[in-house]
Amino acid sequence: MSDVVLTLNHLQKHFGALQATRDVSLELKRGEIHALIGPNGAGKSTLIGQIAGNLKPDAGSVHLAGQEITALSVAQRARLGLGRSFQVSSLAEPLSVLRNVMIAVQALQGHSFRFWKPVHRDESLLAPAREALERMQLSHRADTPVSELSHGERRQVEVACALALKPRALLLDEPMAGLGPEGTAHLTDLLETLKQEVPILLIEHDMDAVFRLADRISVLVAGSVIARGDSAEIRHNPDVREAYLGD
Ligand code: ADP
Ligand code: MG
Repeated sequence: MSDVVLTLNHLQKHFGALQATRDVSLELKRGEIHALIGPNGAGKSTLIGQIAGNLKPDAGSVHLAGQEITALSVAQRARLGLGRSFQVSSLAEPLSVLRNVMIAVQALQGHSFRFWKPVHRDESLLAPAREALERMQLSHRADTPVSELSHGERRQVEVACALALKPRALLLDEPMAGLGPEGTAHLTDLLETLKQEVPILLIEHDMDAVFRLADRISVLVAGSVIARGDSAEIRHNPDVREAYLGD
């Protein structure tokens, strides 16, 4: 079986006159963190949207575990194993951490709200939710309302929501944003362990975290990948330094 879990082939996407994605190809392999870096407006989130299914590419294709998913909906892609961190705003503040993760599992299993069982009685939701919290070292916070969590813990809950669906690949869009040094260090440690089980496509501005975590880095500028390599190669690439690292 191929080591490649997620493949982007020649993706293109425009908004009006703006070409936000210019012929981007990329692979995510088993056991790796592939970081996508680039300045604001480079097209990183637009690319994630096309992978997760929120945005339809003008041209090109996306494959997950060998299957073409380019035309599938967000929910279909999620069910096939494309995990994505949830935005902070999607967590229900008054509900417990565990309940939030269970709701995420239920929502992505594709049930409509009308037919929801009371989530706390549903073993098929409880087991994966507990396991995901364990992997994100949040078991001790399971019964805590989200409103009482630190910013860093919320980020961990968001990743747990994605993990509970047992994804084949995980997309994380700036998971370290707004975290202090301690939160960033903790999340970095967690992701380093996690990548053994789930390969991660990581968009992140914190370059220390990227250089520490990434097995491969693709540098996106104005919709195009201008460089690709491991941390040492990207750190010392003169084009990257000029375009992005600011020296
Ligand atoms: P990044 O995540 O790298 O900061 P984005 O993917 O959010 O960049 O945006 C890339 C470019 O596309 C930016 O110039 C942005 O203004 C533009 N853009 C993003 N989404 C839309 C949209 N829905 N409509 C029009 N322009 C958009
Ligand atoms: Mg973005």
